[in-house]
Amino acid sequence: MSPDIDSAGRVWSLESYFPTFGGSEMTAFKKQLQGDIRQSAEAAGRLPDLDAATASDWEEIILLAEDAQARLEHWSSYVSCLEAAHADKERYPQERAAINRERAVWERIDIELVRAFRTASASTFDHFLQREALRPIAHALKKIRTRSDYALSTPMERLASDLNLDGIQAWSRLYDRLSGKLLFELRLPDKQVAVKPISQWRSLMAHPDRNVGRAAFEGGNQAWQGIEDACAAALNAIAGTRLTLDRHRGRPHFLDEPLFKSGIQRQTLEAMYAAVKERLDLPREFLKMKAAAMGRRAIAFFEREAPLPVASGQAFNWMEAIGLVERSFSAVYPALGEHFRRMLGTGWIESEARANKRPGAFCTRSKKTGEQRVFMTFNGTLGDVATLAHEVGHAWHGHLLRTQRPWAQNYPMTLAETASIFAEQILAQGLYRSPDVDHNEKLAMLDEDLSGMAVLLLDITTRFEFESALYREREEGELGVSRLKAMMVAAQQQVYADALAPGGEDPYFWASKLHFYISDLAFYNYPYTFGFLLARALMANFNQDGPSFLPRYEAFLTASASDTVEKVVLKTLGQDITRKEFWRVALQSLEADLLHYRQLLPQKA
Ligand SMILES: [Zn+2]
Repeated sequence: MSPDIDSAGRVWSLESYFPTFGGSEMTAFKKQLQGDIRQSAEAAGRLPDLDAATASDWEEIILLAEDAQARLEHWSSYVSCLEAAHADKERYPQERAAINRERAVWERIDIELVRAFRTASASTFDHFLQREALRPIAHALKKIRTRSDYALSTPMERLASDLNLDGIQAWSRLYDRLSGKLLFELRLPDKQVAVKPISQWRSLMAHPDRNVGRAAFEGGNQAWQGIEDACAAALNAIAGTRLTLDRHRGRPHFLDEPLFKSGIQRQTLEAMYAAVKERLDLPREFLKMKAAAMGRRAIAFFEREAPLPVASGQAFNWMEAIGLVERSFSAVYPALGEHFRRMLGTGWIESEARANKRPGAFCTRSKKTGEQRVFMTFNGTLGDVATLAHEVGHAWHGHLLRTQRPWAQNYPMTLAETASIFAEQILAQGLYRSPDVDHNEKLAMLDEDLSGMAVLLLDITTRFEFESALYREREEGELGVSRLKAMMVAAQQQVYADALAPGGEDPYFWASKLHFYISDLAFYNYPYTFGFLLARALMANFNQDGPSFLPRYEAFLTASASDTVEKVVLKTLGQDITRKEFWRVALQSLEADLLHYRQLLPQKA
């Protein structure tokens, strides 16, 4: 059956995962996988630590574990697609629970690898990495070895992990439960009062009517105040547990573990923030321009994502949307345009607006088939067109990685958004030139882009500054509610400076921001800024060098999980991200966008 061009990209095809859900192929696949995972876990549990005598047995276990994990992810990717596209069906969440159970068994292999690598001498380990089948995944193995350097003894690790269930994870669950149930009163200017769930808080604060935004902010913060002691206790316990574990594991700094997970060195993070702090004037300037357009000098913290009041809302149909994306891609990056057409033609994109679809958008891929799938719901806004380009950017990254071994495809969070933001920027450049997009729509789009930039440079930096201060002070003892509020206000004033109206701070942001309460991930903030600026720097290079840049860009994406981020960028792009100068280029590129924004803003009479 040839794909009908009008329906391309509306409903995806998932048959290359499995012909049918729960059919004989899928049943046999699962049975084989479960057997392999158990067999590897048991063999690993029996095998003594790594040395010359056990090396070939460990190699065998690693190869089977790598392949089993790729199959596990194939199954998981398939179920993610089904869960998202059929949110009303109960059998898919049940399948998800089965996948999670299998993952827990798989993790036993990982624990044994950490144990096996710990006592191996440096020369034994280097020798091991030289084995032909292991060389392509040496980086992944080195990361396991580093984890083993900081691991406690096996019984101590077991105790820590059991205590975490009732400790750090319990605090995180308590926060989720309290915040999830939270209700707030919205007192509108006409004196009407409505009780709203906290899930609507963020969008109400960004309401085009600033009075509604303020009423939401005040009502919401009253609700957070009601659970401030519980939030403060959770935050203190989460930070305290991490500091205690770091001390026992011999990790001297609270950033060591987050930096290891995100694949970068301290020096790189410091270089990035040094460059950001030099140019905080750029996002501040944007917020002040926006405030001026609303007749004010500065904004309040809760307004940082509020849209500019312009009459936009041009609607696009699906064919227009794919035309805009395709033309923008093909004009400057033909291979990306070609991949987009391939995805449309082979049923890899799901965009139809219909009932029982989950909200949001994502890209998923299979390391077994080398295919990707994009999920979204297209409602005809320009934001939806940008989402499409963003997700296709992710798919392109996955497409390039498919040539690598499974364990050389797991890039760190710092590189997760590079390809997607890069693709979004290509679309944006195409749209600003396009005669099919009207003036107000262009302004609204640039406003949204720059609001995102301001969040990444100001809001995220505030979070990073606050969290750093929290860990520094927590080392001395517990922090009370009033101290947390004062620290949060100080961080906002320092980072936003004159772009923030006096009294416009949000003292409860430490309580309302979920990201501070994720039990297995600290500093869930700077990787966003990192990814954004890296993509901007790459785009600046592309604009300067033209098409000759693209082979280097593709080499970078292909190698993105094969080494530390510093080495990947150096080897493929020839740039040194440990230096402030690299990041300056990215920040400088924002000047043109600000100028463009100023030109598009309606002129005051
Ligand atoms: Zn993304």
